[in-house]
Amino acid sequence: MNSHREELIYYCHKVYENKFVTAYDGNLSLRIDDQRILITPSGRNKGELRENDLIEIDYNGNKILGEGKVTTEAKIHLLAFQKRFEVNAVVHAHPTYATAFALVGRSLDEPILPEVILSLGKIPLCRYGTPSTEELPNSMLPHINYAWGMLLENHGAVTLGKNIKDAYFKMEKLEHAAQTISVARSLGTIRKLNNTDLQKLYKAADDTYGISIKKELRF
Ligand SMILES: [Zn+2]
Repeated sequence: MNSHREELIYYCHKVYENKFVTAYDGNLSLRIDDQRILITPSGRNKGELRENDLIEIDYNGNKILGEGKVTTEAKIHLLAFQKRFEVNAVVHAHPTYATAFALVGRSLDEPILPEVILSLGKIPLCRYGTPSTEELPNSMLPHINYAWGMLLENHGAVTLGKNIKDAYFKMEKLEHAAQTISVARSLGTIRKLNNTDLQKLYKAADDTYGISIKKELRF
C-alpha cells in the first residue's frame, strides 16, 4: 500500500466490517515518525472514514493537522508509542468475545492455543479505568512494557503491532481465541498445555521460526 493514510483507512474499514467496533467505537493509529502520529478522529464510524478524515497529533496528544477532534482515548495510543519503540501501530476496539472476557474480569493468560501463545503470548487484563481519564492509560502501566494484546476491564481490548497490519491481525487473533475458548468452555473442560508442551513449543519456535519469546510473555 502506498501511504500511511491509505493503509490506516484499509484497517479501519476491516475493523468495522468484522464488527470489532460498533457505531463510533474504537480507534486506530500508526507512528509516522518521531514527531507525528496518524490517528482516527473522535466520534466517527470507522467504516465510513476516508483518508482526509484522519488527523495527525504529536506525542503530547496535541493536534497538528486535520479537521476532526482528538479522541480522549488517544491516551491509550500515546502510552504505547512512548513506552515501546518497536510498536508502530495500535488498534483499540470492543470485539464481542474479548470484551465479554473483560466484563467478567477474566484475562486470556492461560496456555491453551499454541499459535496464540507464539503470536501474542499472555494477554493480561488491565483493571478498570474510567474512560477519557488518566485512569485508563494508568491501568495499562503494569503490562505495557511486554504485552502485545491487553483486555480492558468493563471496556474492550487493545493490540499493539510492528505495523498496522500486525496490530490488526493481533486483534483478529485475540478475538478469535476468545470466541474459540468461550465455545470450548460450553462443551467441556479445556486441556491446557503443560510445562513440557510449552518448553517444546518455545524450542520449536526458536528452531523453526527464530522467534524468541520474551520472558514476560511466557507461561
Ligand atoms: Zn473504547
